[in-house]
Amino acid sequence: MVKKSRFGQILINREVIDEETLEKALKIQSEESDPNGRMLGEILVNDFKVDHHAVFGLLAEMYAFRTTEIDPAKIDQSQIKHTRELLNKFPEDFKKELLYKKVLPYQLTLGRRNTLIVLAANPTDKIIERIPVYTDFKKYEVVYCRLTTLSDLIEIISPQKNEFLDLLEEVSDQMNEVREREEESAVDEYALDEEINKSLLVNLFEGCLIEAVRKGASDVHIIPYEKTNTDFYFRIDGRLTLWHRQDNTSPEAMAAVVKDRATGVDRFERDTAQDGFAQRTVDGHLIRFRISIVPIISAEYERRFESVVIRVIDDRNVITDMKKLGFQEQAERDFLKAIGKSRGIILLTGPTGSGKSTTLMAALYYVMDPSLNVLTCEDPVEYVIRGARQIKISHKLTFDEAIRSILRHDPDVVMVGEIRDKITAETAIKLANTGHLTLSTLHTNDAPSAISRLYKMGIETFLLAYAINIIIAQRLVRQLCDNCKKPLSQEKYPVALEMGLTMEELESGQIFEASEKGCKKCNNGYKGRLTICEALYFTPEIRKAIVESGAEIDEQLIRSIAEKQGMISIKDSGLDRIRNGLTSITEVTYATSED
Ligand SMILES: [Zn+2]
Repeated sequence: MVKKSRFGQILINREVIDEETLEKALKIQSEESDPNGRMLGEILVNDFKVDHHAVFGLLAEMYAFRTTEIDPAKIDQSQIKHTRELLNKFPEDFKKELLYKKVLPYQLTLGRRNTLIVLAANPTDKIIERIPVYTDFKKYEVVYCRLTTLSDLIEIISPQKNEFLDLLEEVSDQMNEVREREEESAVDEYALDEEINKSLLVNLFEGCLIEAVRKGASDVHIIPYEKTNTDFYFRIDGRLTLWHRQDNTSPEAMAAVVKDRATGVDRFERDTAQDGFAQRTVDGHLIRFRISIVPIISAEYERRFESVVIRVIDDRNVITDMKKLGFQEQAERDFLKAIGKSRGIILLTGPTGSGKSTTLMAALYYVMDPSLNVLTCEDPVEYVIRGARQIKISHKLTFDEAIRSILRHDPDVVMVGEIRDKITAETAIKLANTGHLTLSTLHTNDAPSAISRLYKMGIETFLLAYAINIIIAQRLVRQLCDNCKKPLSQEKYPVALEMGLTMEELESGQIFEASEKGCKKCNNGYKGRLTICEALYFTPEIRKAIVESGAEIDEQLIRSIAEKQGMISIKDSGLDRIRNGLTSITEVTYATSED
């Protein structure tokens, strides 16, 4: 039985969360039997992406903690020095743990008994009680400070270190030394050079994994650049940016190190595509990496270059609360209605990288219930889903075979990674028509064309019409940085007018564009991404239009019926985001231009 929570009730009264979220969070809490398990607030923030300050600000208020507003940009040098000195009085491991938990011993107030002022983003964190155990500070006062402020403060006072990158510098110095010595002595320095070179590359690779996670990159690309250089790119918010160029090293040596540090790959194999795997703990979180290695052509015939792409799988990026997907009103309402049914297909469409799997995950978490058998069939499996049975695809059980076995495995809810051919399509339809809720994805640009695609795969119109609950087509657009966005410049007015914005809207100063260089809080004027989408809900009218289709599905007709019933197209969804000052015209055009 799930216990009641007074704090949870207050959060509901203040409209921070709803009943349902509280119930789900309390259930998760009761299932985590660990006596040092997470607090309700932590679960809400981590699993349900509720705003940290909304939860912990209220917690601080409830327990009458003093709160403070510090502007990290205005903090003076003497304060920085003072706090650093305080921090150095703590044992190294404990200090790391404190900072990791965003607890900062900030100031010593002198008085009859000296009081240590401790800033904390979660003032009830148990770690604070251990301060007198590890130090001479016997009296302390905990003061609540917003997580964002505290993170900035900690970054100034004790910048996060990447030990591998520090080591990298050290090794580079040694390497230069070796080179200098080489010129004067005839001793065999070659082996030593090799050795140092290898540790340099190991540190570079490990350092790169850590940086990728910290910078929120979805992928790392390691590619040869000419004979002696290797480039490292990070994909952040959908765009590749150069992170590092490694000079004076052969790309083959770099690839060898990657293979050495990954599991499931053969380091001596250089002519086939290989898939490997790695996992590391970064800042206290277990992060998984999927590594793909492919041989590529080089200008020099005898060289064997390989391209390496590493997918960063960080469970913290999984959205488990539908509401946090940030869908607009009509889409969210229809989506919830569609997945609330016990049967039917929920179909997500869009190109690669449009956020389909994120949405799929959130939908799955929404419907998941211990009384239901939730089966997933995807290749490869991206995230481990607590509470679902995820079929393991291998050379012994192919995707097609797994699909065929789903029906015999008595499921209630099924998630099929992708409808890629007639077999998957038929299975999905069969599942829906036999009373199962089926979630899947399809590669099409918009919602109506998904119907055409399935029809062309050979599915009858009446089956299509009655099996599907909703089709959602979505894209991700980059979000303008709040810190440096600027009103749209006048020379871009014509494009904006053509898109459907009015002169009044343009002159209101509420339509923004990215500043070219960006600021230190963003990447080229953008930070994070948001969804734009169209949600085609299958009403009786839509079903009728599909059944009555002739030799071809009339996509235009379906679109116009849907729009009459309130569907907002992807373009209009983008326009809405522009009107709200969240994204730019460039972004929406870029995301929807292939339509
Ligand atoms: Zn910025």
